[in-house]
Amino acid sequence: MSNFLENSLQYIKGIGPKRAKLLAEELNILSVKDLIEYFPYKHEDRSTFYKINEIASSQAYIQTKGIITSMHTVGEGRKKRLVAELRDETGSLELVWFKGVSWQQKNLKLNKPYVVYGKPALFGSHYNIAHPEMELLTQTKKKMTGALQAYYNTTEKLKQHYVNSKILSDAIGGILQEHYKEIPETLPTYLLEKYRLMGRQQAIMNIHFPENIKKLNQATYRLKFEELFYIQLGILKDKFEQSQDTIGYPFPKVGNYLNDFYHNHLPFDLTNAQKRVLKEIRKDLGSGRQMNRLLQGDVGSGKTIVALLAMLIAADNGYQSCLMAPTEILATQHYEGLSEYLRETNINVALLTGSTKKKDRKVLHEKLQDGSIHILIGTHALLEDVVQFKNLGFTVIDEQHRFGVAQRSKLWNKNHRAPHVLVMSATPIPRTLAMTVYGDLDVSVIDELPPGRKPIETKHIFDKNRNKLYQFIQKEIEKGRQIYVVYPMIKESEKLDYENLESGFETLSKVFPAPKYQLTMVHGQMKAAEKETAMQEFVSGKSQILVATTVIEVGVNVPNASMMLIESADRFGLSQLHQLRGRVGRGSEQSYCILITSYKLSNDSRTRMETMVQTNDGFEIAEVDMKLRGPGDIHGTQQSGVPFNLKIAHLTKDTAIMQYVREIALKILSKDSELKLPENALIQKQLRLQKLQNVDWSMIS
Ligand code: ADP
Ligand code: MG
Repeated sequence: MSNFLENSLQYIKGIGPKRAKLLAEELNILSVKDLIEYFPYKHEDRSTFYKINEIASSQAYIQTKGIITSMHTVGEGRKKRLVAELRDETGSLELVWFKGVSWQQKNLKLNKPYVVYGKPALFGSHYNIAHPEMELLTQTKKKMTGALQAYYNTTEKLKQHYVNSKILSDAIGGILQEHYKEIPETLPTYLLEKYRLMGRQQAIMNIHFPENIKKLNQATYRLKFEELFYIQLGILKDKFEQSQDTIGYPFPKVGNYLNDFYHNHLPFDLTNAQKRVLKEIRKDLGSGRQMNRLLQGDVGSGKTIVALLAMLIAADNGYQSCLMAPTEILATQHYEGLSEYLRETNINVALLTGSTKKKDRKVLHEKLQDGSIHILIGTHALLEDVVQFKNLGFTVIDEQHRFGVAQRSKLWNKNHRAPHVLVMSATPIPRTLAMTVYGDLDVSVIDELPPGRKPIETKHIFDKNRNKLYQFIQKEIEKGRQIYVVYPMIKESEKLDYENLESGFETLSKVFPAPKYQLTMVHGQMKAAEKETAMQEFVSGKSQILVATTVIEVGVNVPNASMMLIESADRFGLSQLHQLRGRVGRGSEQSYCILITSYKLSNDSRTRMETMVQTNDGFEIAEVDMKLRGPGDIHGTQQSGVPFNLKIAHLTKDTAIMQYVREIALKILSKDSELKLPENALIQKQLRLQKLQNVDWSMIS
């Protein structure tokens, strides 16, 4: 095993301890291996050089060559900028820097040939390029690179510290030059030959420094193949192992609890989608195998009632159920909602959270053990060892992403046999994808909203038009409605974000003064108990406006809230915006979602706003979301709810490769299910490494 891969980045030329720390924090790049597996998000053809007099204003990015003949700064303080003149034999243009002025000034060399890359703009009769990429020509020549230049994503914070795409490219180049021959192969030779895949050394080299387009394509294909192959293999192998030993409690019958509730107490007709999903669940429960099912449904699609009906089937067969929610508020809401449904039945429901009193707990523990509680609802508190059931047969987990594997396996320990598991999630993953991604879970989808819902009206407005908005809010409050106001909270600009949140709260407090209006503020830095109390003020209707960060994103249900106002909406991802919007539109009143941004928006941001305005369909939104994000997107896969990070493959664009490698993986496993054959030794090893490292699909199993 070549150890250089494990080396820390601080000793790499061009990086050093400070940048290494930043790379770790910002991009989770810790080792040499992480860095050479940080793949570019695009390549650009740099074979063409423009002469300066060939530049025309309509051009997008261009590349040119020239000598810097002079440099000077203009302005003072924050307005200070650096202006340099670039000259070739045909003419001259201006290069301008507004940021990093002194750094540039120190590093740029006069009268040396540079390759310059950027977007020209016409100013008067003269062209200039703001913040061009600069590279000394001598260095360029020395480098391995051909005409195709790799581009790497970095973050704002990295850029502030001058860790840009080029720095990364240079560092990777340095590493590869020295260690390229030590990069180990990760696919067995028989696969490389059979599927005509490029070797890994060559692939890594060509993805960063392509010799030509053809090699780049082969490299990309090979790396995607590898990535998706191991994901599929992992999923399929788990599934295979599970099906070996997952005898589940058989729930063969439907009895009085379900029938009585269904016919006498269900307050509405189920939608067709709910009926279909319930049928799927019943079939699983009757099969004698343990159920592992993901129940996907957009916010408000009515997942809870389906879970309740399934829990009644458990009761009909003599088993207890539990429902776990990620927060106390959600658990309490579920408890109140289900108790209301079950008021006139003989089903006993109980609630257990961190704040359940000691003496109540004691009673509760007893009742769980003697079986008189049928359904227990709660938070992580359910997982404590002291909580023992008489016979837990069915577990519902709401909003899955907050629970990890370790926690879930704790549930299994409460029994000698694993209970059936239903995981409910509103994270919209395109249907075709869900099957492949959650290969080890069965998936049910509620793709229909209950009838009579008024679709939420979504509007995108600019900062400046706030005043009208305040009048509108006032009218809604007069009608007795409540309002959410959400601010972004992003780690890298945390301090600024809090300032915005607080000043926003102050402004609103002035526009909507006490005692007539009550406002509540909730954010992530509050203690859990404080947060709960504040949220409760809003949930109970005591305050009309909740000013919050995204802590309210998941699951909270205040049907009386009719408006979701999202500040700096362009700073949220699409799926997050959709989740937030799902907090309103839960009652019978018309609801609104208002997206506020400044006038200046990037193309992607504009697409996101337009998508939100145009559709309420979570799956459609998920499709757009995935299309907008390249594989290099830093927060991408995490936010989309997919339980693993992809380094190079793209979830929607590469479905064909995904299918292909899935079949290859199946073929291998059907011949050698435990990967014991010598020819598969490398696969076995690789799979184990991967499990340890970054893939967490077991999150949802
Ligand atoms: P989610 O899927 O987001 O968890 P819920 O289960 O909280 O959605 O349901 C949202 C609301 O829709 C609840 O108030 C619930 O009572 C109501 N509801 C669920 N199913 C139906 C139905 N078939 N007809 C009418 N209302 C329904
Ligand atoms: Mg829910």
